[in-house]
Amino acid sequence: MSGTLYLVATPIGNLEDMTFRAVRILKEADLIACEDTRTSRPLLNHFDIHTPVTSYHEFNKIEKAKELLDKLLEGMDIALITDAGTPGISDPGEELCALCVEADVPVVPVPGAAAAIAAVTSSGLSCRRFAFEAFLPKDKKMRQSILKELESESRTIIIYEAPHHLRATLDQLFEALGERRISLARELTKVHEEHMLMKLSEAIAYYREHEPRGEYVLVIEGVSLKEQNAKAQAAWEDISITEHMDIYLSQGMEKKDAMKAVARDRGVSKRDIYQALL
Ligand code: SAM
Repeated sequence: MSGTLYLVATPIGNLEDMTFRAVRILKEADLIACEDTRTSRPLLNHFDIHTPVTSYHEFNKIEKAKELLDKLLEGMDIALITDAGTPGISDPGEELCALCVEADVPVVPVPGAAAAIAAVTSSGLSCRRFAFEAFLPKDKKMRQSILKELESESRTIIIYEAPHHLRATLDQLFEALGERRISLARELTKVHEEHMLMKLSEAIAYYREHEPRGEYVLVIEGVSLKEQNAKAQAAWEDISITEHMDIYLSQGMEKKDAMKAVARDRGVSKRDIYQALL
C-alpha cells in the first residue's frame, strides 16, 4: 500500500488563515517536504507541529521528487508545503504531483490561501472567467509574445509581481494592452494590505511618486468581447465589400456563403451585403 501525498496550502501572511485540516495533516504525516525548512519552521512551531522535515525546492525538484516518490511507494504519507500559499501555484509541487499521479500514488489537496484567488475575488473586476499568468517570463522575447497574446484576452488577467519589477511591468502592460482597469493587491492578509483599483496609466503615475513595497498581485480587466468584435469589424472596413467578397470567392466559396461570411465579418446583415453589391 503506498502512502499519500498531501498538497497543503499555508497562509500567505496571516497565520489565522491556516486551516484546522492543514494542521492535522501536517501533524499526522510521516514527513513534511518544505520549500525552505527555515521559512516554514516558525509556522510549524506556532502550530506545535513536530513532524520531521525535508527540503523540496525549485533547484532539487526533479531528483528529490523521485526520492520522495520512493518513500511514498514504501507507504509513507508526505505533506508538501511551500513558503506561502498553495503548492504548485508559482511554487514547487507540479512535478512531484505529476510523478505521483503517474505512479498511482494518491494526491490529496488540502486547500487554503492562494494570493491569485484572494486578489481576483476582492478586485472589483470580473472573477467569472480569469487567466492566471503567474509571473511573466523574464526572457524578453517570451515576455513579448505573452503580452501580445494578452492583448486580445477577454478574461480577467492575474499576474504575480515582485516590487522591484513593478514599474517596468506596468509600463509594458500599458504598452501592450492600452488603457485598462487594474487592481493592485498588495500585502494581502498582512498589516499593510492594500487594494487599489485604477486605470493602468494612473497606476504608472502613482508608482512614479511612490516606491513599490511588499508583494503584489496585479488583476487586469480583459478586453470586452464587444470591443474585440468592433476592432475586428473595423479592420475589414479598410477594404471594399467587393474586395472582401473576392477573398472568399478566391478560396472557392459559393457566392451565397461568401456573402454570409462577409456579413458576419462586418457585423451587418446579409441583405446589406446583397444591396451593396447591387
Ligand atoms: N504559492 C503562492 C500562492 O498560492 O499564491 C504564490 C507563491 S509566488 C512564489 C509569490 C508571489 O505570490 C509574490 O511575488 C506575489 O506576487 C504573490 N503573493 C504571495 N503572497 C502575497 C500576498 N500576501 N500579497 C500579495 N501577493 C502575494
